[in-house]
Amino acid sequence: MQNWPLTLDKILDHASNWHGDAEIVARKTDRSIERTNYRSVHRRAKMLSNALREMGVRQGDRVATLAWNTPLHLETWFGTMGIGAICHTLNPRHSIDQLSYIIDHAGDKIIFVDPQFLPILDANRERFPSVEKLVLMCNSAEIGGDMRGAICFEDILAHQADDCVWGGFDENTASSLCYTSGTSGKPKGVLYSHRSNFLHSLVTMSPDVMNLSSRDVVLPIVPMFHANAWGLAFSCPAVGAKIVMPGPHLDGASVYELLEAEGVTFSAAVPTVWQMLLSHLQESGKKLSTLKRVVIGGAAVPDAMIRTFQDEYGVDVMHAWGMTEVSPLGTLSSPKGQLGEMSSEQQMRYKVKQGRAPVCFDMKIVDDTGKRLPHDGTTCGRLMVKGPYVASDYFGAGQEDLLDGEGFFDTGDIATIDADGFMQITDRAKDVIKSGGEWISSVEIENVAAGHPKAASAAVIGVPHPKWNERPILIVKLKSAGAGTKEEFLQFLQGRVPKWWLPDDVIFVEDIPLGSTGKIDKNLLREQILSRRP
Ligand code: ADP
Repeated sequence: MQNWPLTLDKILDHASNWHGDAEIVARKTDRSIERTNYRSVHRRAKMLSNALREMGVRQGDRVATLAWNTPLHLETWFGTMGIGAICHTLNPRHSIDQLSYIIDHAGDKIIFVDPQFLPILDANRERFPSVEKLVLMCNSAEIGGDMRGAICFEDILAHQADDCVWGGFDENTASSLCYTSGTSGKPKGVLYSHRSNFLHSLVTMSPDVMNLSSRDVVLPIVPMFHANAWGLAFSCPAVGAKIVMPGPHLDGASVYELLEAEGVTFSAAVPTVWQMLLSHLQESGKKLSTLKRVVIGGAAVPDAMIRTFQDEYGVDVMHAWGMTEVSPLGTLSSPKGQLGEMSSEQQMRYKVKQGRAPVCFDMKIVDDTGKRLPHDGTTCGRLMVKGPYVASDYFGAGQEDLLDGEGFFDTGDIATIDADGFMQITDRAKDVIKSGGEWISSVEIENVAAGHPKAASAAVIGVPHPKWNERPILIVKLKSAGAGTKEEFLQFLQGRVPKWWLPDDVIFVEDIPLGSTGKIDKNLLREQILSRRP
């Protein structure tokens, strides 16, 4: 067979050659809509590669981005990776302390930045001395005023040729870098390779995973700055799907408008984003006319969310589990064999689970000594995973060996696996509540509580208890303030979770804090709640 290294530049070459007219639509920060296509993005990405070379960027150099999902961001990804440099996505929701640490640790050479983030980066430049240039992702007419020594994307492209050689390096060459949010300890860098991202894209396109095709119109709400936008920035061009990018506007009304105006058939996001869309639909009485499938993951998807999408809007929900370290899609809960013929009520038992392993991905659950545990759907253990797009170590972390004797990576999650191979997360190891020596699943209580008609969102944390060691407390954000009572929530949970799991208290709050990836920040929540208790 031919030697055809799996390098990511080939994906955009393919999109330009065979799907050149497929559209890429973007909502900009000022809400205006911009339209381009794969041919143009490919051409401009090549021009950018020439500009990067002119700026002294070489294979292995880190080029960072601090940006929303936009066509310029896509051009920066491919322009950087095409020449073997490493595209390092920075998360704008990180604090400046975290960002400074991450930029410095990665040794970034250039940062491509959306204009709104320029002041914060510029004010902290001495904290990341490796950075030689800031490039504003706009043209100079758009920015006006003081550019604080930065240069403009369109200016560096202006005189560049659009022919440039991409690839030609080993498929194991590093392509991109993403740091985990660091909710426990310092952020850690995950370094992806061309091969790992390529294989991840092929797997995620397949029918039992995202089932993507050129007939799809895809709205990647998941940001390109976190965990590869779940691979969509590669898998969409790979199949030639039209992409619709939401920019920073993720509120329910804005997302709804784009879904309908652009005929979106498929989208992916964390539950908090979908909650905003569903609230908007419920308040406005609007319907979804083109959306067929959504992948929801990053945090457990409440049963009520799956039902609402399915029963009220005819949208199929696929629950996914993943993490930065697994590129990020690990498992997906699509029906298997005869399970697909079950009634929709019977299928719900599987849909709420985090799903099963696709090809190129293996998993097991183990006890504290590393012994494999049975796949009976009830025994909980540490979830360990393995595959060509699973991390083996962290960027710049020395020789620390993260894998067990069989080569599995410890996810830090606690899960069950049933006889059909469906995995279900019961908790993050660090969020587990241990009451009287037994584990209580905060995820499961949250899932049920979020289904209460008055709940906008719910979180469960463990608090110290003199007799039981720890007991669960339920924290609820109501849909309309002041309308719920502790008793009605406890009553709602009764019979739906084991009796001894019933929370000792229910606390109503105006807001549940979210972390940099849109998930509930349990550490902060724990601090807030504990400081309020006697
Ligand atoms: P970070 O680790 O930076 O918060 P990640 O996005 O990598 O960001 O988080 C991965 C973690 O998110 C997983 O280890 C798991 O605990 C949680 N997670 C992801 N998907 C799900 C899901 N469907 N259900 C429950 N937890 C999930």
